[in-house]
Amino acid sequence: MPHRSIQRSQRLSEVRYEIRGELARRARELESQGRKLIKLNIGNPGAFGFRAPEHLQAAINARLEQSDPYCHQQGLEESRLAVAALHIRRGVCEVNPQRVFMGNGVSELIDIALRALLNPGDEVLLPSPDYPLWSAATILNSGTPVYYDCRPENDFLPDPEQIEASITPHTRALVIINPNNPTGASYPRALLEQLVRIAERHQLLLMADEIYDGILYDEASFQPLAPLTGELPCLSFGGLSKVHRACGYRVGWAVLSGEATRLGDYQHALDLLGALRLCANVPGQWAVPAAINGPNTIDALTQPGGRLYETRRAVIEACAHSPFLDLVMPAGALYAFPGVDSSRLPGFDDHHFALDLLEQEGVLIVPGSSFNVPYRNHFRVTLLPEAEQMREVFHRIERALQRCAPA
Ligand code: PLP
Repeated sequence: MPHRSIQRSQRLSEVRYEIRGELARRARELESQGRKLIKLNIGNPGAFGFRAPEHLQAAINARLEQSDPYCHQQGLEESRLAVAALHIRRGVCEVNPQRVFMGNGVSELIDIALRALLNPGDEVLLPSPDYPLWSAATILNSGTPVYYDCRPENDFLPDPEQIEASITPHTRALVIINPNNPTGASYPRALLEQLVRIAERHQLLLMADEIYDGILYDEASFQPLAPLTGELPCLSFGGLSKVHRACGYRVGWAVLSGEATRLGDYQHALDLLGALRLCANVPGQWAVPAAINGPNTIDALTQPGGRLYETRRAVIEACAHSPFLDLVMPAGALYAFPGVDSSRLPGFDDHHFALDLLEQEGVLIVPGSSFNVPYRNHFRVTLLPEAEQMREVFHRIERALQRCAPA
């Protein structure tokens, strides 16, 4: 009998996640042939020699002898208490452990949050560039991404008027990624207040992906969204993966704030979806109170002399010296998103460039168009390697850019 091959779900036809896509597959192929590569495609601290701080490791090690039951679908009580207390200290109203949802990373919670909200055809306002899981999860949950521009000319900040003009009767949520991946933008308080007013006028659920909340450079500061939203429904996301460099623990949280009558049955929907996947990784959650209440370990990395600071400086200097590159200095997070001056390199294509850089120079980056932007002259690198290695990377990038120059 002739066999029939397995066809994937049609829902996947528009779903992309190129950070780990085609180029990453090609990189693994090259590595299997013995090539040494520098891979800057993933913000994966563990892959660059970082370890979770000792007090997080100790919190887990101290309990490894215990039994390992599933915990409550929303997470361990002690972890939720620590997250709720953090948000209360920030000045968020109406938060308690029942409003905290622990997940296997923020990734899982983004999916749950959108699945709990969306009906077919509902629209979600997402930044462009975005962290592409947001687009993927919107599409997988029958929604439609509607992008608002965060253009380099505007320091990658959004334009509130454009956001408001994009709202239709189908719009359900406004997503903010702050500090931003991939651009490193950190949103000023006055801008966030404008976005809150828009959400208020149009009855939108605000979603604030704040997973990079402690990673800031120079004079930049972080303004969490939820303290500004008062009674408005707002879901704020944070976790251990970046600020605490514990991405393999797979622990994130989402905190629902706002006046109870405005939340309808959304809180129950989150609880139900949490229950369907039973619970988040329990040993990882043991580290949450220690992470939230323990010593700050990120500032030493982001201040002058610190590893992230110095690598970011290497990127800034390399871009300043390049005849081809423009950079909006990242104020926070773990990435730089340089742009190529199209007048110097007409016809530049981010994908061709990334492939050439991989094949010829052994460096893996992510093309800017993977982040749902309509232009093709940017790319993203993570700031996680040592500064010296980053200087070498930009040396090779420059060589590859020279090859793109018209003869
Ligand atoms: N949100 C943003 C903006 C991210 O950059 C990432 C990971 O890179 C995530 C969410 C997911 O993080 P995790 O699932 O490790 O908590």
